[in-house]
Amino acid sequence: MASKIRTVISPGRYVQGKGAITQLGEYLKLIGDTPLVVADDLVWGLVGHDVEASLSAAGLPLHREVFNGVPSAKEVDRLVGVIKRTGADVAVAIGGGSTIDAVKAAGFIAGIRWANAPTVASTDAPCSALSVIYTDTGEFSEYRFFPRNPDLVLVDSQIVANAPVSLLIAGVGDALATWLEARATARSNSKTMAGGLPTVTGTALAELSWDVLWGNALDAIDAVQDHQVTPAVEKVIEANTLLSGLGFESGGLAAAHAIHNGLTAVEATHGLAHGQKVNIGSVTQLVMEGAPSSDIKDFIEFTTRVGLPTTLTEVGLKADDEKSLRTIAEAATVPGETIHSMPFEVSADDVVSALASIERLARGVRQRAGLPEPVPYVAAHH
Ligand SMILES: [Zn+2]
Repeated sequence: MASKIRTVISPGRYVQGKGAITQLGEYLKLIGDTPLVVADDLVWGLVGHDVEASLSAAGLPLHREVFNGVPSAKEVDRLVGVIKRTGADVAVAIGGGSTIDAVKAAGFIAGIRWANAPTVASTDAPCSALSVIYTDTGEFSEYRFFPRNPDLVLVDSQIVANAPVSLLIAGVGDALATWLEARATARSNSKTMAGGLPTVTGTALAELSWDVLWGNALDAIDAVQDHQVTPAVEKVIEANTLLSGLGFESGGLAAAHAIHNGLTAVEATHGLAHGQKVNIGSVTQLVMEGAPSSDIKDFIEFTTRVGLPTTLTEVGLKADDEKSLRTIAEAATVPGETIHSMPFEVSADDVVSALASIERLARGVRQRAGLPEPVPYVAAHH
């Protein structure tokens, strides 16, 4: 592709609001006649009744398939088999980022359309035209890119507010990184996940996501503790899902997500949410950029208040564990990783130094701001 082409991509339709799930059937009817709904048992227990009623009201048949938990190549291929057997013409993911990534990948291979109804606002997976595929044990394996985004993304705000607040918090971590990474990509004029150079549109949406979160995240988190949908909650759901989704895809990823991918290579971080690991990537990227110390301080203070990890301790690591930090840094800097979209060259050594430095840095910032000491994270054994 010509090197100066800019592009922005997006889902066909985005729907959000309290009770939106009751309109799922109506919107799906515009896309296909035979939906295959994929959801794990926990999610199905929460929303199955409403989904069934909505599809039935729209005159659509209901085929539901269980999602097995990890968006691995094996799980994707299994879902392709189910799509073929049921003759479905639209695959519908209901659940979190893992379900959504598996269904997008399966829908693409099966050659049918796909739609997402995220039940949490914890990642920016729902709107994009790519899936992150993991190994069966949860290590990052590959990005798969598709020629189009979902035809429909439908978010019921009440369902999101009913979910544990930790999921919304993780989504804020994922979405804050969007602007840091889009800004770096714009500076280096590198290719985005959409396959061209960034547009001013993609970059601006990433920045808007950042502004909305700084203004509303703390209020939204308070409201969701009590499962209330307030205007701040609606704004944060939109920032986490739509703005960050468009912003990361058409604005570009850089160091924060590459470091996230690196973190998944170390068992001590397993079990943490995507957005928690991404936040460690964001702090590390700011250090590598040599960002103004007041910016770094503000980011550490704000994301600590949000409830995100800002130290190695909180993701199961230690600053003097050279071996683990080296493993993370090597994985984060493999050829093709988005860390090479930074406006300067990044080596594994640079990543090790930046990662090792954030422990003392973040502890100092937190102490001076009167924020709590980090609580160590201990991964469950496999
Ligand atoms: Zn992400």
